[in-house]
Parts: sequence; C-alpha cells; structure tokens
Amino acid sequence: MEHSLEIYNTLNRRKERFVPLHEPHVGLYVCGPTVYGDAHLGHARPAITFDLLFRYLQHLGYKVRYVRNITDVGHLEHDADEGEDKIAKKARLEQLEPMEVVQHYLTRYRHAMEALNVLPPSIEPMASGHIIEQIELVKQILEAGYAYESAGSVYFDVEKYNRDHHYGVLSGRNIEEMINNTRSLDGQDEKRNGVDFALWKAAQPEHIMRWPSPWSEGFPGWHCECTAMGRKYLGEEFDIHGGGMDLVFPHHECEIAQAVASHGHPIVRYWMHNNMITINGQKMGKSLGNFITLEQFFTGDHPNLYKPYSPMTIRFFILGAQYRGTVDFSNEALEAAEKGMERLLDAAALLDGLKTADATSVEVAGLRKRCYDAMNDDLNSPMVIAALFDAARAINAVHNGQGTITQADLDELREVFRLFLFDLLGMRDERASRASGNEAFAKAMDLLLNIRAEAKARKDWATSDKIRDELTDLGFTIKDTKDGAEWKLN
Ligand code: ZN
Repeated sequence: MEHSLEIYNTLNRRKERFVPLHEPHVGLYVCGPTVYGDAHLGHARPAITFDLLFRYLQHLGYKVRYVRNITDVGHLEHDADEGEDKIAKKARLEQLEPMEVVQHYLTRYRHAMEALNVLPPSIEPMASGHIIEQIELVKQILEAGYAYESAGSVYFDVEKYNRDHHYGVLSGRNIEEMINNTRSLDGQDEKRNGVDFALWKAAQPEHIMRWPSPWSEGFPGWHCECTAMGRKYLGEEFDIHGGGMDLVFPHHECEIAQAVASHGHPIVRYWMHNNMITINGQKMGKSLGNFITLEQFFTGDHPNLYKPYSPMTIRFFILGAQYRGTVDFSNEALEAAEKGMERLLDAAALLDGLKTADATSVEVAGLRKRCYDAMNDDLNSPMVIAALFDAARAINAVHNGQGTITQADLDELREVFRLFLFDLLGMRDERASRASGNEAFAKAMDLLLNIRAEAKARKDWATSDKIRDELTDLGFTIKDTKDGAEWKLN
C-alpha cells in the first residue's frame, strides 16, 4: 500500500514505518474498559486515540479487524481487596448478579462512546466468555515449564522465564533488581517470588464469579484474557496492540511473557501506548476526589465543572494533543477547545455559500499534504488541526471579501474538511443536528395543536382536552389565542 505512515513502537522505542504482516489485512487489539464503574475521561483517551488509528488505517485501504475487549472478570489487585475481583465485590455488596453489574456499565460505556463518535470495534469479546481459552493458555504455560501450581492457584515463574528469555523487553525494567527486592516474600506467600503473577486464582468462599478448572474453582489472572483473545481472533502473530501507557507494566509485559512462554515467540509487531490525562496537573483517581465521569462532563453535573461540555468538545480537546503527549484537564483548556472547535465548524459551514472567482488569493495549496504528513507522523492530530485552522482563516477571508477563491480550490477545501475534520478526526457538527432537531420538534408540536383545533371544531372535547392535559403534564403551557394555540415548554 502506498503510504508513509510511521507509528511509535514502544517495544523498539522508535518510530517505525507501518508494514502489516498480511496486507491488506491489519489486526488491531486494544485493551478495553473494565466495566465496574462509569467511564471517565481516562477511558476516552485510548478509545479516541485508537479510533483515529482505526479510521486512518481504513482510509489508507486496509481491512482492519479491530478487537477491543471488555474486562468483566475484574482485576486482581494486591492492595485493599486482594484476590477479590471488583465486579464480584460490587455485585456482592449490591446483591446483584455480577453480569447485571457488567451489563449496566457496558451499556453506559457504549452510549458514551457513541456520543464521542468512537466507531464500534469489529469484535468486542468479553473475558468471561473466554474462560476455556484462558485455561488452555495456562495449561500451555504449565506444560512449557514456566508456571507452577500452588494451593489451587497457578503462578507465572518470572525468574525461570527471565533466565531463558528476557522479562522486561517492553517496559525496560530491570527484572534482576525486582526479583532480588521481592525475594523476602519467600515462604510467606503462595508465590515463589513476589514478581510472579497469577495465571489462575483459586476463589475464596465469598468470591461469586468462579469457574471450574483443573486446579481449583476460581478465575483467570487479568493478563491472560488479552493474550488468549488476541490469539483467538487475530492469530498467532498480529500487527498492533494498543492501550494506555499505564498498561505497559505489568499488563503488557506479562502478555508478552505469556505469549513467548506458551508458543515460543512474541505475538505482537507494534506496541502503541497513549499517554495519560491529568486533572489540574494531578493524576486522576477516586481517592483524589478529582474523578469526573464522561456523563458528568456532558451534563456539567460536577462541582469542579463550570458548565457542561459536549462530547465533541471532549473529543476535540483530546485530539488537540498528540496521543503520546500529556493532556491536562482544566475548565479553561476545555473552553479553549470548545472555541477552537466552533471556529472550525463555523468555517466548514461557510464553505457551501462561498462565492468563487477566477483566481485564488488565499493560501490553499499544500493543505491536504500538510494534513497527510501530520497523520503519517505518528497520528499528529494537533498538526492536522493547525492546518485546518489555516484553512478556516482562508475561508473567513473569502467570506469577508478580503480574498478570492476559484471553484477548484473551493472544492479542494471542502474535500480537506470532509476528509480530515469529519471522517478522520471524527468531528460532528452537533449544532446542525440540534437545530434541525428543534425544527422537527416545533413542527410536531404544530401538528398536535392542529389536531386539537380540529377536534375542538367538531366539538370533540374529549380529544382536545386530552391533548392539552397531557401536554401540560409533560411540562408544556398551552395558551389559546384568537389566532390559534401557542405553546411554551416550561
Ligand atoms: Zn489487555
């Protein structure tokens, strides 16, 4: 395929030209959400980053199979709630079936993604639906001699793996140091070494999400699902694995070790990681009290928000930074993003009414190339946006009579906006749909009031009263005047 897309490969710590294993097919796997709570700003960034990649790869002509998993078995965390998975814990506390908790948050996650204009992936596999594949993976690692059983649980033997291969290739961590630092756990723990990670965990009596296995009734370790599902849907070796930078260690490091231990070779060609979002310079977290869900952004219902911010404002704000750069949330930054986005949408809306001339005096040439160059440079969305701002300046100049443009150049501008602003950056002009929505709404109200007037005319009081009373219940005020009825929504 003719293109010069370069992406930063975390594994090799450099930008590399993207060449797929099996052109024109591309396998893309992204670690999806853990569905035990509402999606927040931190969820929006990987979703939008890899949506941009998904859109661009398809634009370049690739047939992309995009797999984004749903983690519904929960995380094993060795802090407060050791061994208990968060979905199970939430279900136990709220007396719900765990899959009710999963379904509730999954539905909300999908709504938020739809609002952000994040395209649905090709396959959205759930960890709980792939327990057999994960057990199979654990068996293979045991057979290869890189895992051991302990009290019904199975742990990955990091020290042994590191002797034969290299544990730490992705994160660059010094594993010898980690092994020595955690050796003191010996004898205290089911694990031989503190760095060993669980492939299978025996369930405690209070643990309600559990499955039978050769070792115990229990549940798979978190890292297993992505290795098992990536392999199932994308094959023994696939092109791109993505996720947030916070997943590099241990999650993705463990995935590499599991793949090599079970099949003798790594599974992924390019590892891509988006940077994190901070809030006023601080990490985001429930305990820090600066945790804002996407829904709260959309409604403005949070003490730290000055006002609601539309999903498109959030999207534009995130795309305003290259994905490997940091993004710091503040109301000021979001307001600036909103203004910038409106400037581009206003310019795009002017394109249809622009008068053309015999010559072009504004700067149009080279815009498309600038946008492509930026996209090919590791998805440099802020550079695409900068080029579009220049295009908007040219459009405004022609609109204000301070410049001229030919039909051909106007067509070119229109194409650049369609392709880069709408198709690739995935922006939508929600103002247009809101306005037409309001128009349709007003027409529907006129229709109802006409039906009421007709009912009155034939003295069908039951119908006319019913329409007035039920509209009143819905919060409308209906006022009869000599020219007909007027309505107002309170
Ligand atoms: Zn994962």
